[in-house]
Amino acid sequence: MTQPHAGDQESLDDAGVGMTSPRTRERLRQRLAAAGIGNAEVLAIMGRLPRHRFVDEALSSHAYEDSALPIGHGQTLSQPYMVARMTEALLEPGRPETVLEIGTGSGFQTAVLASLARRIYSVERILALLESARKRLRDLRLHNVRLRHGDGGLGWADYAPYDAILVTAAPEGIPRALVNQLAIGGCMVLPIGHGSEQVLVRVIRTDTGYRHEILEPVTFVPLLGGVA
Ligand code: SAH
Repeated sequence: MTQPHAGDQESLDDAGVGMTSPRTRERLRQRLAAAGIGNAEVLAIMGRLPRHRFVDEALSSHAYEDSALPIGHGQTLSQPYMVARMTEALLEPGRPETVLEIGTGSGFQTAVLASLARRIYSVERILALLESARKRLRDLRLHNVRLRHGDGGLGWADYAPYDAILVTAAPEGIPRALVNQLAIGGCMVLPIGHGSEQVLVRVIRTDTGYRHEILEPVTFVPLLGGVA
């Protein structure tokens, strides 16, 4: 078991009132529990992290609704249910020490992971998003995260193998390069497919290859090649 590495409670909680207050976050936590999220630690983190700090100020009043929100560059911060569901699915086979995330985006999912594992590595192809995420994570004092500008379809070989990999944009199939960077017994959660045909998949690396299971239908932005 690793210790949570999130900043202290004070740094995570704004003393705000109204739409971004701790009470509003607690309501989100309750909604996620009602929607079927069972992992108490994941629920606690979702009820604590200031999601409004990961979106434009104009959208902050919507930050604790269970919906995806635009973060610019045609990308979205995933719906809280999906962040919680993917995190829960990733933790189920065993708690990871190291996690590789593909698609940093706003950095919100990264912040959730940083509170649950020892070291997080996250790759984003859009430099502007990466730099904003870097600032947010620093402001929240989440120092156990390493970010990289690059094509996440190739993974991040320098720190492989990872105990877990989480992908937040959809490739058409399971990327071989990512499976190869998973530790034996390691777990990867990712959406695959395109348009309305996507499913969330959990892959477990085995001695001889990998096995996978389909979790549920989902909608994600596509995993694109190259950098921007
Ligand atoms: N986890 C993010 C979700 C962002 S949406 C959040 O919580 O905000 C998916 C992200 O994946 C986008 O930022 C997109 O730019 C990024 N992405 C798409 N293809 C990628 C690739 N090949 N490598 C790295 N990032 C990619």
